[in-house]
Amino acid sequence: MSDTGWKLEHSYAQLPAALHAQVQPTAVAAPRMVIFNTALAGELGLDFSSLDDQQRAELFSGNRLPPGAKPLAQAYAGHQFGHFTMLGDGRAILLGEQQLPGGGCTDIQLKGAGRTPYSRGGDGRAALGPMLREYLISEALHALNIPSTRSLAVVASGEPVLREGQLPGAILTRVASSHIRVGTFQFARQDLASLKALADYSIARHAPEAAAADNPALALLEAVLDKQAWLISEWLRVGFIHGVMNTDNMTISCESIDFGPCAFMDEFDLATVYSSIDRRGRYAYGNQAPIAHWNLSRFAETLLPLISEQEQQAVELATAVINGFERRFNRHWLAMMRRKLGLLGERDDDRALAEDLLQLLQAQRLDHTNSFLALMAGDNPAVSDDGNEAFGHWLQRWCERRGGGQRPEAESLALMQAANPQLIPRNHRVEHALQQASQHQNLQPFENLLAALRQPYALRPEHRAYQQPPRPDEVVPATYCGT
Ligand code: AMP
Ligand code: MG
Repeated sequence: MSDTGWKLEHSYAQLPAALHAQVQPTAVAAPRMVIFNTALAGELGLDFSSLDDQQRAELFSGNRLPPGAKPLAQAYAGHQFGHFTMLGDGRAILLGEQQLPGGGCTDIQLKGAGRTPYSRGGDGRAALGPMLREYLISEALHALNIPSTRSLAVVASGEPVLREGQLPGAILTRVASSHIRVGTFQFARQDLASLKALADYSIARHAPEAAAADNPALALLEAVLDKQAWLISEWLRVGFIHGVMNTDNMTISCESIDFGPCAFMDEFDLATVYSSIDRRGRYAYGNQAPIAHWNLSRFAETLLPLISEQEQQAVELATAVINGFERRFNRHWLAMMRRKLGLLGERDDDRALAEDLLQLLQAQRLDHTNSFLALMAGDNPAVSDDGNEAFGHWLQRWCERRGGGQRPEAESLALMQAANPQLIPRNHRVEHALQQASQHQNLQPFENLLAALRQPYALRPEHRAYQQPPRPDEVVPATYCGT
């Protein structure tokens, strides 16, 4: 293979053997390139212009390994909907850590590449629709300036996978600053040496400043807690609902990961749930901060033996950090809402102003994204006369807070423009694009949607249609895992 720029290293493979298993991807029958992220390849120092589509398909299906690859699957555990289970990469295979041109490294993983020692009853495969969904959502989050794993390629396998019926199979190449999860620590705690090695490794890779702290494990907890609290506030900013915030789907790098039945909310409602398997709303839009807090408490439990040899003291120290979640989250949330509302400086009643707005949106079931765009344009977001009146009072308060009715300052507007996307991946659009791609081999709607979502803060005239909320007959009430 000509020099495509691969520089794979294998630091994770140096961790204790219990944490991973060597495994080769299982070849597929007829790999065919579906989509490839040339820009991301460039960021990784990779250039595949010398390869034709078929050669790329061989590479990103796992049929042919890149030079220097040492494939492995990672062990992890996790609380799934509150229930603890032993898990691991059941269908994902890490090829190695690509060394980046600017320093640092990033995991390159094939998802759907065949069975592993952690597959349990699963087939190790993935369907095309869900892999394209992950590609689209991860790239959309990234463009929204929200940390997320990235997607380099989707290859159709040429083999069917058996789900609710037969579906076309596919492999996704996932790029992540690492795949270490809260669940990885839950797995590693079975053995103190593994746990210690994993914590040291995580600190070196994701929280190097913690290494110099008096209590590195506690400093790691604090760093992850603060970054996760911020990440959730960013999800709320754009109306994102992850859908399956199990502890195995929460990273220590604090990148968003594992996009199954996730979706962006249209009408503002704290209780919004899309996932067909989340019947009780555990992972509803408005429940994501408390769930992150819960997950981080599970993370803290795993770290106890590293925080102090004296259990009582370890519990006290960890609890003090964990109890800080709400305060930190509230601070990030308020800062985020100030940006969305273009509020310069800080005033005591800012929180009430923001909360009262959301209450109005909720009561009137207004579109989350477009309501903020209306505010930005100087319009009343309400759509009914009654609503108009209710909004009148709030708009007056907002206007006063922004500078007493004079023209909004450029600085305030710039804050709003950077915090309020013109475009989000609306679920009905996503479902339509996936259906066309997966059932009709028509990738055009997917590519058009993706192109629009690459610049979510700047609206081009040709992308205006993507701002439209679904008509009643277009609403997609539930999304399915499709694993
Ligand atoms: P997820 O719900 O995608 O976060 O996956 C939960 C667990 O199930 C992980 O350990 C996955 O590796 C595993 N899993 C999901 N789908 C499959 C599959 N088709 N074959 C084997 N393992 C799977
Ligand atoms: Mg997962």
